Amino acid sequence: DQILDIMRIEHDISPVAFNTWIKPLTVYSVEGHTITILVNNELEQMCSYIKKKFEQPLKVTISEYFNDVYDIHITTSEELGKIEATQTVEPEKKPAASIITNKTLNPNYTFDTFVVGKNNELAHATALAVASDPGDYGNPLFIYGGVGLGKTHLMHSIAHYILSYNPDYKIIYTTTETFSNELISAIKNKTQEAFKDKYRNIDMLLIDDIQFIAGKDSTMEEFFHTFNTLYENKKQIVISSDKPPKDIVGVEDRLISRFKVGLTVDVQPPDYETRVAILVKRAELEHINIEVDALHYVADHISSNIRELEGALRQIYNFSRLKHADRIDTDLAREALKDIIAPDEARPITPEVIIETVTEHYNYKVTKDDILGKNRSRDISYPRQICMYLCEKYTGLSLAAIGAALGNKDHTTVLHGIKKIKTDLEKDEQLRSTIDIITKKLNPPK
Ligand code: ADP
Ligand code: MG
Repeated sequence: DQILDIMRIEHDISPVAFNTWIKPLTVYSVEGHTITILVNNELEQMCSYIKKKFEQPLKVTISEYFNDVYDIHITTSEELGKIEATQTVEPEKKPAASIITNKTLNPNYTFDTFVVGKNNELAHATALAVASDPGDYGNPLFIYGGVGLGKTHLMHSIAHYILSYNPDYKIIYTTTETFSNELISAIKNKTQEAFKDKYRNIDMLLIDDIQFIAGKDSTMEEFFHTFNTLYENKKQIVISSDKPPKDIVGVEDRLISRFKVGLTVDVQPPDYETRVAILVKRAELEHINIEVDALHYVADHISSNIRELEGALRQIYNFSRLKHADRIDTDLAREALKDIIAPDEARPITPEVIIETVTEHYNYKVTKDDILGKNRSRDISYPRQICMYLCEKYTGLSLAAIGAALGNKDHTTVLHGIKKIKTDLEKDEQLRSTIDIITKKLNPPK
């Protein structure tokens, strides 16, 4: 009654309408998060009118009142009779309340906040398809990729998505570690049956970081049976891992082969554009007032994974608060990140730096002494000529000075070396890529 009163006031329903439509409604049942409400009026038209007009407001009011999302079904006793008739045909009884809550889910990890780029396009599309069609699209869904690239985010998104249209869907999201710990304490406390019940009577299992199952025999054994039970009942399973199934070591073959029967997708590190897009989105979500140029600066210098991108943004933000800056520009970002990112000026490109970078590129099979020496075998003279070429391009030194820095070569030798590389660059794809890689490491100012 209290709820109905709140609703009347909030939705501004006239007393007449209220008494006509709402007052006669009775709550028929509450199952999990579904509330069935009965219309004591057999006229179908009237029922559908009430439904159209009040189902949504009721849902909002009740959900607000209980601070939880409820699904409201307004129905007639006639309709209920029909439903019950079909239910007796299928007597399979669900456990009373959905055991899974979305408490373990991070509310920020949704499809809405997931930025799609070339690196994760397929993983995103597949996750969405699985969320729309659990059990039917591909089972299991196996998502793999490096640290901080969005695997957990995608798994939570799947769960949120399903729960948004079906709050009663029984989903467990767990990490492999938690699964394993729970199993161990179940064995200790002799509550294995409850453990089995918990994991086998659900609609969907999302299990994160499966690589940590390696070497845990009892966990592998239990998971194998959990997997099979769910799989046979066409319940969706989603697994994440840091590597593809074939590369996981220390896990039984029978499990690995299960992983491979469904869909396998990967997430790759984001390219530059995607990094910028992720930063823009993050800044927006967290209401951080930062110039786009500063975001480009971050995307330019942090490329390994998304968690680090976010960490850098947070650090900049905290720094700006300390400085009482209300707008963040590139200079502020650079200052905030100076301990993470070596400033461009810190390492001017000198012949020494070039020699170090080139020899490193050849895994030191060519040494600094080789470069400075006189050995003319191609294995050595070619890297030496690459050094000459890069010195001319990036140090601004004269040919004579370059020659001096590279072990007292005269300037015609240097000139010859530079010309050789330039000519080769026009036709040699491999060389172009070598020079590209080395140049990236040198990180010349743009
Ligand atoms: P993983 O599980 O692969 O190690 P996470 O899913 O934990 O990585 O992602 C690390 C962080 O990066 C999280 O804060 C996540 O929200 C964020 N993130 C990852 N991928 C994306 C993306 N495509 N768009 C937006 N944020 C992302
Ligand atoms: Mg993760």
